[in-house]
Amino acid sequence: MQIINPATQEVLDTIVPDTQASIHQKFEAAKAAQTAWYARPFEERLACIQRFYEALALQEDTLAATLTAEVGKPLTEARNEIKGARLRIAWFLQHSTAALAPETVTPNGPTQEHLTYEPLGVIANISAWNYPYLVGVNVFIPALIAGNAVLYKPSEYATLTGLHIARLLHEAGVPPAIFALVAGNGQAGQALLQVPCNGYFFTGSYATGQRIAQAVAGRMVPCQLELGGKDPLYVMDDVADITATAAAVLEGFMYNAGQSCCAVERVYVQRPVYEAFMEALVQQAAAIKQGNPLLPTTQLGPLCRPGQVAFLQQQVKQALAMGAQIAYQGATLPPPGYYFPLTILTQVHHGMQVMTEESFGPLIGIQVVDTDAEAVSLMQDTPYGLTAAVYGSNPQRARQILEAMHTGTVYFNCCDRVSPALPWSGRGHSGMGSTLGLAGIKAFVQPKAWHWRV
Ligand code: NDP
Repeated sequence: MQIINPATQEVLDTIVPDTQASIHQKFEAAKAAQTAWYARPFEERLACIQRFYEALALQEDTLAATLTAEVGKPLTEARNEIKGARLRIAWFLQHSTAALAPETVTPNGPTQEHLTYEPLGVIANISAWNYPYLVGVNVFIPALIAGNAVLYKPSEYATLTGLHIARLLHEAGVPPAIFALVAGNGQAGQALLQVPCNGYFFTGSYATGQRIAQAVAGRMVPCQLELGGKDPLYVMDDVADITATAAAVLEGFMYNAGQSCCAVERVYVQRPVYEAFMEALVQQAAAIKQGNPLLPTTQLGPLCRPGQVAFLQQQVKQALAMGAQIAYQGATLPPPGYYFPLTILTQVHHGMQVMTEESFGPLIGIQVVDTDAEAVSLMQDTPYGLTAAVYGSNPQRARQILEAMHTGTVYFNCCDRVSPALPWSGRGHSGMGSTLGLAGIKAFVQPKAWHWRV
């Protein structure tokens, strides 16, 4: 399997993918080793993760360079991702001991009642390429701390990063059988579904998530899905700082070239502030530098996957054919990089894919609305339910709108952010189950209830 640099189409490396037989062997080895891993003192497992946390900082230069080379994100964003992953690991290190401690629920009376938390066993972690460190650590760090073994399949587009992660965990003391990398594309992912894991944790698209949920449904084990979104953002007429709001929207839809699960995907602006907002947005968009992701001045790199440029071109073409206008479009950079120019569309509506289907690129549609009720109705017009954001100056008004959202996360005067202290979860087509927060620690254990008469 060739690993291609999306900025240059150079072959970075060639690796041998796993087969059904090698995946089966890794599963058997993980199963055999898991009991001993769980039997090790909790502090020993924490110490391994602490060493991994430290190694990420020590090797940041190499890790960030690899991430940029294979995924195409600007080097500063690659560094930010590694720093962000370390913050999440630090949170898990700080909170896992208390979250997983045995509890005495009923201390007195004829029957004492206690609660303990046991690992699931061997879990499959099928991961995405867009933030391989962030979405990876959400799963494998709490899973390993709790005493599980992990079969980790990075996306084919983030294979070299996956190999770095495996190497660093092994160097930190996690046995190779306990964290085993499954290399390959979607076929390797499918093969991984054939082994009888004790839990399946997936990050990726709705279409693949649905296939995975169906494939493992009969096994009666946890299946957690973190999927895509079509996240709306609403700018209300009482917004305090239109320039800062435009800056937040711009970053929200173009960070990581728009390839974020919680990227701002569509914007509704109340008519009285529409013109001022558009002026600020277009002015700031025109200053964005797209190009070689290795340059420190680059803010927008190429897309990661070859087919995505044509996909976005099609969304724009359909929107224009239905009456949309281009309010801004950056210069088109020539191949070999998979570049798509920053594009802002207006005069859009929900008959267009750009307002209803995940774009996953530096493309946004901006629609004018007159009332909060109209905004709420449009924001809710989606099968997805990851995040929703409101910008304004009246918290009560914002609360009313955000309470109506069928999403796992809501934002007031911020967007496109994830906190390790809060559960990260989607509703509807955005998935099921939570990572991060205390719920994201407990996702990797099963409770055992003790009824105790002495
Ligand atoms: P995909 O669904 O295509 O791939 C995700 C993972 O599944 C990859 O490792 C992929 O392998 C693997 N895979 C592909 N087909 C199968 C299969 N049939 N059986 C098992 N595994 C399979 O996702 P994308 O690459 O398109 O990732 C982007 C999507 O992920 C977006 O929709 C984004 O919103 C979502 N996402 C959601 C997040 C969240 O927290 N909610 C976070 C990050 C991303 P390979 O890549 O090698 O083909």
